[in-house]
Amino acid sequence: MSAVLSIDNWKSEADRLSFRTEAFIGGKYVAAASGKTFDRINPANGKVLAQVAACDKEDVDRAVKAARAAFDKGAWSRRAPSDRKKVMLKFADLIEKHTTELALLETLDMGKPIRDSSKIDVPGSVNCIRWYAEAIDKVYDEIAPTGPEAVSLIRREPVGVVAAVVPWNFPLMMASWKIGPALATGNSVILKPAEQSPLSAIRIAELAAEAGIPEGVFNVLPGFGETAGQALGRHNDVDCITFTGSAEVGKYFLKYSGESNMKRVSLECGGKTPNIIMADCPDLDAAATAAAWGIFFNQGEVCNAGSRLIVEESIKDEVVEKIKAVGRKLQPGDPLDPKTGMGAIVDKTQLDRVLGYIDTGKKEGAKVVFGGARVRAETGGYYVEPTIFDDVDNKMTIAQEEIFGPVLSTITFTDPEEAVRIGNDSIYGLAAAVWTRDITKALKAARRLRAGVVWVNCFDNGHISSPFGGFKQSGFGRDKSLHAMDKYTELKATWIHIGN
Ligand code: NAP
Ligand code: MG
Repeated sequence: MSAVLSIDNWKSEADRLSFRTEAFIGGKYVAAASGKTFDRINPANGKVLAQVAACDKEDVDRAVKAARAAFDKGAWSRRAPSDRKKVMLKFADLIEKHTTELALLETLDMGKPIRDSSKIDVPGSVNCIRWYAEAIDKVYDEIAPTGPEAVSLIRREPVGVVAAVVPWNFPLMMASWKIGPALATGNSVILKPAEQSPLSAIRIAELAAEAGIPEGVFNVLPGFGETAGQALGRHNDVDCITFTGSAEVGKYFLKYSGESNMKRVSLECGGKTPNIIMADCPDLDAAATAAAWGIFFNQGEVCNAGSRLIVEESIKDEVVEKIKAVGRKLQPGDPLDPKTGMGAIVDKTQLDRVLGYIDTGKKEGAKVVFGGARVRAETGGYYVEPTIFDDVDNKMTIAQEEIFGPVLSTITFTDPEEAVRIGNDSIYGLAAAVWTRDITKALKAARRLRAGVVWVNCFDNGHISSPFGGFKQSGFGRDKSLHAMDKYTELKATWIHIGN
């Protein structure tokens, strides 16, 4: 349906939209206990969209109580997997049915193009929840190969109360990567969206209830990290934190856990993805197009953004020219225009951060060869041009720190060993890519690159069945695939003595 909507259609849909703005606890929308709210600003124009409940410790206590009570009652946690499947399939169907509305909420809240939110974010979330629903009644437990005197049943049980703390760059999709497997395995879940993007999370709470997810099993707490996020991290009755966000905040969660109940923590953190293009790349046009989309897609606000172009010296100029050509077509526009390929940066703070990094790059001696400025300031929104730096040394700040904006650093190499060395010279290890027609070179590089996913002759390809997550300070634990279910389950051995 969204395929046929014009900018005017989207704008009138947006005007008709009303927002759910409260927390969802124990099956009901409720205000924050303090009565406090915070403003949600539309980054496309700087105007206030809505006032959202600012949850804090007391709300966390209420949500954890509701989640625990539901877990203990067993209406979800002890339900047959095939029954949970039916409910979750309905949940996925309801999200799909509300694609237009949810896509609008994503775009208005955090500035991404409506084309992406309607074609990627919402469908990707639906697919994720459906996939885990479908998986749950097909996964078997184990019997250990012990001696004849015993039978050891090895079962996976839900961990209990799971708190999912997620970022703003793909609000619904990052949430789905957590709540899909966490709910499927029978847990009670508390979702804390980022302060910049709570609207879609709040809305799907009632869709979950409508689908038949029992009260207390799925709760949503909008609010700030320092308050609601920290209170979840430190709560003694939360069994598991599943986090996506920056490495800095990921480390806080390890601390919170250590200072409270040793809850398990899994972290999907940042990245500084090396995209290595060798001179024998099989298709330079494809590589350059993928490199451009790999850094400009979603305004560069992507954890695995290909922010380091590590290109063989002899083809560097040609590749950079081709990336510029894609960048020219991708200039930022109104996020509600279905033709827009790049939208607004999420907020003023992030805008200043990105522009600050561009300044730092110049000061440290790198050269801006494309873009580099704020644009569309007259709209009141926060837009940055697709930007390319050349002459970057991997030691420079812009090559080491995650910018989370549309800023590409170009670094050259002359031999493949050096490319891998530069690629690995990072505190992060979320993803990497290598382009070459030589299978031996590709496999050698893929083995030596320290990253959770290595793409060969493509960039950012994926499937819900393939795990995603990092090495090093990109975190640990995997989202997507059956492996994600490990995070939300305890392994229990039941040893039955049967004698000789
Ligand atoms: P962030 O600042 O780390 O925030 C992530 C979440 O943590 C938000 O819900 C945030 O709440 C909360 N939070 C912030 N400070 C906290 C604290 N002191 N205690 C507890 N919770 C706290 O990250 P972001 O700016 O939203 O997102 C960008 C980051 O996410 C980037 O580093 C990116 O690489 C990473 N990311 C990683 C992946 C992946 O799969 N590896 C995917 C997407 C994004 P508030 O915002 O409400 O304060
Ligand atoms: Mg934040």
